[in-house]
Amino acid sequence: MASHHLLAHIADPSDVKDTVSTELASVRVPMLRELSLPVPVVTGRTRLREVERSFLDDPDLRAVAVIGDGATALLTRLHLETMLSGRLGFGRALLSRALVGDIVMWNGAQFPADHTLRDAASEILARGLRDDDVLVVDADREPVGIVPVAVIFREVGLVFREIALRDQLTGLPNRRMLDERGAELLANGVDPGRMAVLYVDLDGFKQVNDTLGHQAGDALLLAFSRRLAGAVRPNDLAGRLGGDEFAVLLFDVDDGEATAVADRIVEVAQHPFSLHDTQLRRSATVGVAMGADLGVSSSVLSPLDALLQHADGAMLHAKRAGKARTGRITEPEATGAPERRALIRLRLPEALQQGRLRLHYQPKLELRSGQITSVEALVRWTDEQLGQVSAGELVAVAENTGHINALGDWVLHTACAQARRWRDEGRNWSVAINVSPVQLAAPGLASTVLAAIDAAGIAPQLLQIEVTESSAVLDIDQASEQLHELQAAGVLVHLDDFGTGYSSLAMLRRLPVSTLKIDQSIVGRIDSDQADAELISGVISAAHILGLTVIAEGVERPSQLERLRSLGCDSVQGYLIGRPQPALELDDPRSMMPAQRS
Ligand code: C2E
Ligand code: MG
Ligand code: MG
Repeated sequence: MASHHLLAHIADPSDVKDTVSTELASVRVPMLRELSLPVPVVTGRTRLREVERSFLDDPDLRAVAVIGDGATALLTRLHLETMLSGRLGFGRALLSRALVGDIVMWNGAQFPADHTLRDAASEILARGLRDDDVLVVDADREPVGIVPVAVIFREVGLVFREIALRDQLTGLPNRRMLDERGAELLANGVDPGRMAVLYVDLDGFKQVNDTLGHQAGDALLLAFSRRLAGAVRPNDLAGRLGGDEFAVLLFDVDDGEATAVADRIVEVAQHPFSLHDTQLRRSATVGVAMGADLGVSSSVLSPLDALLQHADGAMLHAKRAGKARTGRITEPEATGAPERRALIRLRLPEALQQGRLRLHYQPKLELRSGQITSVEALVRWTDEQLGQVSAGELVAVAENTGHINALGDWVLHTACAQARRWRDEGRNWSVAINVSPVQLAAPGLASTVLAAIDAAGIAPQLLQIEVTESSAVLDIDQASEQLHELQAAGVLVHLDDFGTGYSSLAMLRRLPVSTLKIDQSIVGRIDSDQADAELISGVISAAHILGLTVIAEGVERPSQLERLRSLGCDSVQGYLIGRPQPALELDDPRSMMPAQRS
């Protein structure tokens, strides 16, 4: 009886969901207490000379905490040096008489130890604090320690990244994280020949979704993801690629070991799953690809891409052979997978020359006015041999082959011409273009953009530039200089994919941007995960204080829209508002009204 009860409990999909969000909430935002460095404490009556001595004796000493009558303060090395330099009225001559309490700012910026990083980051941005360190105090205002401001911003960046690198439903690493970890390990000398990828597909998943509903489908994916994680070895990396497809990265294995892990996954998938009080039997098919099989023929693909593609081929092969098994193909040709990237590389120059590329435009909705104010241009290419080539694939290849500049120029001119056409029709939509890190690194970008605006005869305000965090980080000085020039001319710069790069908030202090665009991986959880909603709320308030506006991308559900609205987000973009479409189809305003979509 008891065990039946337990099963029923586990099988309830809403319960399982709860477990998931607690798990994701384990992407925890640390509290200041945990990051505090110890700090010496002195009283306000201590002689300044004595404290100066301590700083001289210990070059690593950043600051001392000062306590007085019911008040606390922080004396940093920088502050002391400024005071003693004479410019502020205290010369060294006064040193013999002065007390520490005379030069500190009592009850200045102090942060409670139980504040989270998010609280601290928004407050620092809000107050425009210039100090390098902040004082952390406990409930009785006793000093606990100091935290460098740089650490606060770095940690906030890491929390965002952690969220963006995990699959929303299962909490497993997502494709992006697999890519990053794979590349990292290869760069650190892992033997590519002894690397393997398992491509795991759950058989008959769609049927569960269709007959039992999405909740049951989610619960099944979750239960399976747990088994998968339990079936691999501690050093293997199991992740979810999307839908019912998973991948496992194995390092330092031979053929036999990789196949053994694959067989174990096939095995654990066969035990019944309990969903909705029903026992459900499913199976999994696994494709195995060994680094050693690939040789040099795949040099245009990243090793992980090549392995995934190969393992995918092996999995499909095994499915055709009857599912619930491990597939292994040793010759790359046998997978029948064309080297897509190589083909893209080959056909792109001609497509550019012959004008085969198109731009689609996706509306951005300003929440306050309920108006479409701007549209984002996204490149589209359908090739007769390749079929649809996604913007991501296309841009990645163009960046690697140097075609990105020609592509970027074409996008720029096409977008400006379109903005002009809309203006002439009386629609004042600005057009946002995406600019690749490679373009941003080339010094001529700002003048090229301004020349294109000029040629089209539009106001600079009608063009916006979206840059990604990673691109800005690549060469921050070069990027910053070009972006300053553009902003000064009236071209607004948006920071795209915000929350997926490092030290996000800290960068805002250095880059001239007008708008933050919160990445869809974070927006995707805003209506289900409280911790994420809180993070976003902190980011939005910090951004507003800095005079920036905030747009959220990838908004697909009304619940996300409502949440964003209540958090004070300025604009939204996503399938709920409108999909990217050719300019002509955008003319129908009904296609942009959320209420008209199902
Ligand atoms: P991005 O700039 O962050 O663009 C957002 C992507 O999310 C677009 O994918 C868009 O179609 C998609 N999207 C929009 N709303 C939703 C939604 O509600 N749900 C979901 N799941 N997706 C949504 P797309 O067009 O495939 O572009 C991918 C990326 O490729 C872009 O990310 C951008 O970084 C890059 N890209 C696109 N066009 C260009 C271009 O002309 N030049 C450069 N350099 N990069 C481009
Ligand atoms: Mg964009
Ligand atoms: Mg984006």
